[in-house]
Amino acid sequence: MNEMTPAMWLVLAGVLGACIGSFLNVVIYRLPLGQSLVSPPSRCPKCGSLLKWYDNIPIFGWLLLGGRCRQCKNQISIQYPIVELITALLFVLVVWLTPPGPLLATRLLLVCILIALFGIDLEHQILPNSITLPGIAIGLLLSTIAPPGLRDALIGALVGGGILYAIAWGYYLWRREDGLGMGDVKMLAMVGAFLGWKAVLVTLVFSSFSGALIGLALIASQRGNMKLALPFGTFLALGTLIAMFVGEPLVTWYAGFFEI
Ligand SMILES: [Zn+2]
Repeated sequence: MNEMTPAMWLVLAGVLGACIGSFLNVVIYRLPLGQSLVSPPSRCPKCGSLLKWYDNIPIFGWLLLGGRCRQCKNQISIQYPIVELITALLFVLVVWLTPPGPLLATRLLLVCILIALFGIDLEHQILPNSITLPGIAIGLLLSTIAPPGLRDALIGALVGGGILYAIAWGYYLWRREDGLGMGDVKMLAMVGAFLGWKAVLVTLVFSSFSGALIGLALIASQRGNMKLALPFGTFLALGTLIAMFVGEPLVTWYAGFFEI
C-alpha cells in the first residue's frame, strides 16, 4: 500500500462530505416535519416513486436526472445538490486547515450541525431543540479532549447564551415584541460550547454585520421592510464558520492593539 498523499486525503474528505451532505438534506427536509431520518428510503416528494440507488449519488445523481423526477418529471429542488456540494467543500476546507486529531472530528461535526441548522432556519424559521440542546452537551463533552478545553467551552456556552438572552430581553422591553428567538440563544450557547468564548464574540460580530448588510440590501431593493424577519440562525451559522477558521488569530491580533 502506498502512503496517502495530502491531495488524496482532500479528495476523500470531499467524497465523504458529499455523502454526509446527502444525509443532511434528509435532516433538513424531514426533521422539522417530525419524520424518521432513516426510513422510508428517498422518494420523489411529488409522486412518491422510489429513487434508484444511482439517483442518490451525491451531486451527480441530481445532474444525471437533469433536476427532474424520472417518473413524474417534476422538478427536484436544486437545494439537494447545493447542500451536498457545500458540505463537500467545507469538509475539504476543514481537513486542509486542521491537523489530524480530536479537533478535526469536532470541527467536521460542527460543520454538519451548522449546515443542518442553516437549512432548517432558512426554510422553517426554527432552530430545533433536538439539534441545539444535544449540540451544547456534545460540544462540552468534546472540549474535554480537544480545544478550546472544558473551562473555555463552559464560559463560551454561558457567554453565548447569556449575551443573546440579554439582547432578546432588551429588545422585548424596548419594542414589546420578540426580536430574537430562544433558538438563537441556544444555538450561540452551542457555538460557545464547541469553540469557546473568543469564537462566540467573533461569531456575533460577523453574523450581526452580515445580517445588517443583507437586511439593508433587501430594504434598499424594496424587497423587504424593517419588520421583515430574517432568520438570524442562518447568519449565526455563517458567522460561526468564519469564527472557526479565523476566530483565534483574529482575537489575538485585535487584543494585541491593547496589549491585553
Ligand atoms: Zn416524481
